[in-house]
Amino acid sequence: MNDNLTRNEVDVAANLVAIRERMDLAARAAGRAPADVTLTAVSKLHGPERIAPALVAGQRIFGENRVQEAVDKWPALRDGFDDVGLHLIGPLQSNKVRQAVSLFDVIETLDRPKLARRIADAIEELGRAPELLIQVNIGEEPQKAGVAPLETDAFVAQCRGEFGLTIAGLMCIPPQGDAPAPYFMLLEKIARRNGLAKLSMGMSGDFETAIAFGATHIRVGTAIFGPRAHD
Ligand SMILES: *Cc1c(COP(=O)(O)O)cnc(C)c1O
Repeated sequence: MNDNLTRNEVDVAANLVAIRERMDLAARAAGRAPADVTLTAVSKLHGPERIAPALVAGQRIFGENRVQEAVDKWPALRDGFDDVGLHLIGPLQSNKVRQAVSLFDVIETLDRPKLARRIADAIEELGRAPELLIQVNIGEEPQKAGVAPLETDAFVAQCRGEFGLTIAGLMCIPPQGDAPAPYFMLLEKIARRNGLAKLSMGMSGDFETAIAFGATHIRVGTAIFGPRAHD
């Protein structure tokens, strides 16, 4: 952080530079091309004073975890930046599907047949198809959203077959406090056997490990924007 900043300020542009450097190092160390890993800047619970500097610094892909918050925030923020990509990374309720399909470029949290059906209907109705990732409950935690690892193959097939959806990849959030590597490895394995190219895994605390295990999208919030007021 820059010395000229007061306690409450965060140098978003400098943080982005630092994250990009760490991403590049992690990619090279894994024998991967840095360009194969996309940084999703998780801007949930942050306002324009933090997000605008990221846009000015050239960041274009952002993640939000609530549909309503994104609907309220982003139309104004993205004005003047026509290449912004918005990812939904939080749970999606069926009654928010139309709004989500209208606003988001990627929905990373598809995790049940009812949602798949609603998304397919909304895509047809609105003529707009966000890219879709299936969220896998990789640690099989009862409180977490996502398809169980053992049910993921069947769900991918059902999304493709019954609902005619194109699935781009998988997303996971490993259990807090566990070493993440085995979970990242498992997600990569499930993706590979289902012919899925995109892997959204890794956050502020573990993105380098995720890159080592094949992440194509990392989701970083705190390390860019600072702490969130509440979660
Ligand atoms: C909030 C959030 C993140 C970002 O977490 P940080 O630890 O702040 O980087 C990533 N993924 C999901 C699904 C989130 O909800």
